[in-house]
Amino acid sequence: MEKTKIGIPRAFFYYIYYPAWRTYFESLGCEVITSPPTTKEIIDLGVENALAEACVPVKIFFGHVQKIKDKVDYLFIPRVMSMNGKTSYCPKFLGLPDMIRSAIPNLSRLIDITIDLRKDPLTFHKAAVKVAKDLGHTAWEGLRAFHKAAHIHKDYMALLHKGVFPNNAIQGFFSENAGKTEFAYNDFIENKGSKQTPLRLAVLGYPYTVYDSFVNVNLLEKLKGMEVEVVTMEMMDPQILKKQRNKTVKRIFWTFSEMASRTAYHFFENSKDIDGIVHVTAFGCGPDFIVDKLMEIEAKNKHSRVPFMSLAVDEHTGEVGMMTRIEAFCEMVRRKKEAVI
Ligand code: SF4
Repeated sequence: MEKTKIGIPRAFFYYIYYPAWRTYFESLGCEVITSPPTTKEIIDLGVENALAEACVPVKIFFGHVQKIKDKVDYLFIPRVMSMNGKTSYCPKFLGLPDMIRSAIPNLSRLIDITIDLRKDPLTFHKAAVKVAKDLGHTAWEGLRAFHKAAHIHKDYMALLHKGVFPNNAIQGFFSENAGKTEFAYNDFIENKGSKQTPLRLAVLGYPYTVYDSFVNVNLLEKLKGMEVEVVTMEMMDPQILKKQRNKTVKRIFWTFSEMASRTAYHFFENSKDIDGIVHVTAFGCGPDFIVDKLMEIEAKNKHSRVPFMSLAVDEHTGEVGMMTRIEAFCEMVRRKKEAVI
């Protein structure tokens, strides 16, 4: 019998939950199909179909959906409201299944289960059971698949904390050599024979802008090539970030924005641990606009003393302009550091 094909677009939650979601569906005997890494064609497909005023990541999500919609039986586009019981995701995430349904004709069936840990402590278990039953399995099979997925998620997040970038970790989990793979760490090695002063920069922003190398014109690799050790918010110890609760003048309700701002505030208070902060923002994003302004104000605070740069990405982000700004920022931070050493 042919396996049921489930499509997971390589966008938004992909960078955090793909290993868990894929494990869940594979445990139920399904085949998971993922869209390819973002390309110009995918962005153009998204721009054609999404509302003109949508933020860039929504447009990219639309493009990824277009890319796989005809190859699968179901598209998995959950309505994710809260995964931690405290903060929620921005309203665009909540309306994602509806936006996709209304804008893209001839869509394969959507699995648009709602997940909201603020309203229901059993939200994950109930979602796992409902989706399993809808696919013709028993509640028990759904729960068993959920537990496998939760286990993989824990291992995956542990790798991200250690400094493995999501794309490397995902490749390691699902390649033919899974289990034997050496994970490619964010393996900056101080003074590998170079005369440059090594730098350590926090690169903060949504996982779907920081880890999508097409959108950010390969920012992480470029920084690595400039002997910059990169710290992302996924690498931070949650206990450290807990201490940064309520540091902003206004409470931030959105999960990823809150994480980015907590990480920035941690480094503003511990400026010896970092040489600078790069905030990657998405064009057209309301939450980013607020958080970026708050970070910028705090960076100018005379107690913070952490060089800060905001990098906006959009569907037209050009490599040359981006590189010029990054190189200038690194040069400025390096000089500042050398003057102190
Ligand atoms: S948080 Fe910003 S970038 Fe992300 S979906 Fe919402 S508006 Fe778009």
